[in-house]
Amino acid sequence: MGKKIMGIREKNTKENTSPDRTYKRPSWVKALVATEEELCPDCFKVVGTKSRYSLVCALGKKKGGMTVSELTDHLKLRQPTVTHHLNILRSVDAVESEDRGRERVYRLNRGAHCFEECKIPY
Ligand SMILES: [Zn+2]
Repeated sequence: MGKKIMGIREKNTKENTSPDRTYKRPSWVKALVATEEELCPDCFKVVGTKSRYSLVCALGKKKGGMTVSELTDHLKLRQPTVTHHLNILRSVDAVESEDRGRERVYRLNRGAHCFEECKIPY
């Protein structure tokens, strides 16, 4: 019997409730609270990729901030990658930078996001 299965597929796209309110916590973001599964869009923009998450963690540990070359060394990422993600982080106000002599120092902007609330570990 040539039973044709085409066209009609189950539509389980019932995700219209709040498409950009919360995002699933990426696996590399360790949840400190077991019940907390989602991140707000703000924090998701910040840690939505593994590279940015590592940047945030690295910067979170260094209160005095880090330069691009320190971050490049520390994270074993290429400098254009680090710069790219730092720019994104800066565009959402997650990091602030300061020119110190010839170097630019980046620091986590703790006050600007609900990092604490969203339990993003540093
Ligand atoms: Zn948040």
